[in-house]
Amino acid sequence: MTEKLQYNKVLLKLSGEVLAGDSGTGIDQAVVERLADEIAEASRLGARIGIVIGGGNFVRGAAAEKAGIDRLAGDQMGMLGTIMNAIAFREALTRRDVANRMLSAVPAPTICDTFTQRAADEAFAAGDVLLFAGGTGNPFFTTDTGAALRAAEMRCDALLKGTQVDGVYSADPKKDPTATRYDRLSHADVLENGLAVMDAAAVSLARANRIPVVVFSILQAGAIVAILTGNGRATIVTDS
Ligand code: UDP
Repeated sequence: MTEKLQYNKVLLKLSGEVLAGDSGTGIDQAVVERLADEIAEASRLGARIGIVIGGGNFVRGAAAEKAGIDRLAGDQMGMLGTIMNAIAFREALTRRDVANRMLSAVPAPTICDTFTQRAADEAFAAGDVLLFAGGTGNPFFTTDTGAALRAAEMRCDALLKGTQVDGVYSADPKKDPTATRYDRLSHADVLENGLAVMDAAAVSLARANRIPVVVFSILQAGAIVAILTGNGRATIVTDS
């Protein structure tokens, strides 16, 4: 069935913010269930899917620092938040009989295996949905950069960035009614104009490894399958 897919092997980045739903913090289980349904469907179409989950629904180190918490401690808390989110997806996917493997860059051996590229390759080859937790495992990074890193390591066809809007705009469309939406951009356009796609480290890594970044609204029902099959609304950041 893979011939129906525009992208066969993808890295999907889901922000913690999306998981929080309307409450803005913690995990809204209804969101997890909806996304797990979509990921299950995408996996059954034959796509190889790796997922990097953010932790911003719990803690972001940079924001915690402004509140007086040491940056390193805040980053560690943020990385642990990504583990909680990944557990939520592991449970929801397992309940749907979707074979999956959770690997964390921050060792948490009583919970899941530690990330190694070999373990990830084996799981991908077996057709498992991969859940990458712990970001890069290092402070001062974000899960966007973790997603670009895993996309490069796993040689993914595309990095799918699920956001709250349907692509990249010249300004924040929620604040500026004159903001215009782009269908296509180059990585350099994004970096030179400081467009809000992912942080610069993530975009640079994607550019260096020639990985297109597909920015789409995860709030749109059915978006993951639509993007995978080339029918979704998105901005594509590519140099080719
Ligand atoms: N984090 C980190 N190193 C990483 C990834 C994440 O220290 O490689 C910490 C950092 O504090 C970050 C937080 O975990 O703010 C949550 O990740 P992120 O902000 O990327 O989550 P998202 O915005 O996607 O929900």
